[in-house]
Amino acid sequence: MDTQIERFNVIIRVVQGDITCCKADIIVNAANTSLLGGSGVDGAIHRAGGPAILEDCVRIRNKQGGCPVGGAVYTTAGKLEAQYVVHTVGPVWNGGDHQEEELLATCYRHTLQLALELNARSIAFPNISTGIYRFPKEKAAEIAIQEVTRFVQEHVGLNEIIFVCFDAENAQLYSRKLQSPIG
Ligand code: ADP
Repeated sequence: MDTQIERFNVIIRVVQGDITCCKADIIVNAANTSLLGGSGVDGAIHRAGGPAILEDCVRIRNKQGGCPVGGAVYTTAGKLEAQYVVHTVGPVWNGGDHQEEELLATCYRHTLQLALELNARSIAFPNISTGIYRFPKEKAAEIAIQEVTRFVQEHVGLNEIIFVCFDAENAQLYSRKLQSPIG
């Protein structure tokens, strides 16, 4: 079940599947502050992309000590078809009173800004923070769609933004929200 809409001349798509199989200039990773790899989508990206991604991550970590929550850094995409992987660190959900929503929005903004700087035309996002970091899925979907829509309204350059949902629940949530007039 793929959904596709156009906002401000940019195609926004929802697909269900594995982000490592996605064709886009940039694949986004839901990393952690250490940048040293983890489980979930992070593990999948490192496995599929090979050791070159971790080598770049280690270089960045040695230079600037990892990546803060809400930040974004880029590395090679290794063996993936993409040009770059952008690693962003989502917030751990801690009840909602710890700036979680703001920080998740910042992840999307910083990642999209970096994508523009890298001259990317297409970018694929996983559902940042909705796995091990336990961010409520519906709220996360609202934030993701809102930030992406706001960004393409204000910036020219991207042609296609893909939300790659691993699970059916997220895929349905994103499809529904994307098609609703306020989404
Ligand atoms: P976080 O720590 O930010 O919560 P996770 O990797 O645990 O990161 O989960 C983020 C989202 O990525 C979850 O919705 C999870 O289902 C999804 N995910 C896990 N593996 C993949 C994959 N191979 N492709 C796309 N999404 C994935």
